[in-house]
Amino acid sequence: MNYKKIVLLISLGIVFIFIVIVGSNRFYTIDDEIKQKIKEEQIEREERKEKEQILRKKIEDLKYPLLVFTFDDGASSDYEIVYPMFREKGIKGTSFVVGNWINKDGFMNIEQIKEMLNGGWDIQGHTLEHKRLKELKSDEVVEQVIKNNERFKELGLPEPKHLALPYGQINEKDRSLLAEYRKTIRNVSSTSSGRTNNWEDIDFTSLNSVNIDTADVDRIKEDIDFAIETNSIIILYGHRIGEDDYQTPLNTLKEITDYIIEKNIETVTISEMYDRVIDFQDKVKQ
Ligand SMILES: [Zn+2]
Repeated sequence: MNYKKIVLLISLGIVFIFIVIVGSNRFYTIDDEIKQKIKEEQIEREERKEKEQILRKKIEDLKYPLLVFTFDDGASSDYEIVYPMFREKGIKGTSFVVGNWINKDGFMNIEQIKEMLNGGWDIQGHTLEHKRLKELKSDEVVEQVIKNNERFKELGLPEPKHLALPYGQINEKDRSLLAEYRKTIRNVSSTSSGRTNNWEDIDFTSLNSVNIDTADVDRIKEDIDFAIETNSIIILYGHRIGEDDYQTPLNTLKEITDYIIEKNIETVTISEMYDRVIDFQDKVKQ
């Protein structure tokens, strides 16, 4: 073996060792990087989880039970029976009135409505003529709401911002059209997806509500209890006070009103409920 060969072999040896060291180092580095990344991801996950828990707690702390007591059609009994009864108990209601029925026999007149407004009641819209919206064309549906605004204006009433659907029914494509004119749209029991509305995912254009006309009082009380237990929003609705079909029996009204007082669930108007939820949503975002 000559000198040149030895040098070559040594050189190759050095290169080989160099490759092995650099190579293993490289693998070692990649392995380290992966480990580091996994660690970082784990920390991120934990931080995210912690943030979610804090937000969850914040939401839970901001929620409370709320009740909205509404009456449809604007019957004269809203003023003659419900208004004085509620005033005595210190609670406020909401009347969804039909523009063209105001001042008609059996319905509230404009003076009565204005007195209730001054007394803290909310007067909102139940369309101009109480037609079955499902049977109308889209432009006719919108007209029922816009013309009710005009009717309110004509009578010197604040423009309605909330709607109770006549018969609780509407074609879904028209519901989204009406959402441009109203802050909320209230369903009836049969078209509601639940007994109450959740603060965090309330659907303003499809509010769940509970009818008090024919349902037995114990069932309604259970629904109120459910709202209290789950810190959710319950919307009750009745009609003319009376014993016939689609009327609210006086005894039912009395019993439920007493139960609301007994259970001390805060009762607000539909406008107040809307403002409270907006306020809640703002606080959650902060
Ligand atoms: Zn109605």
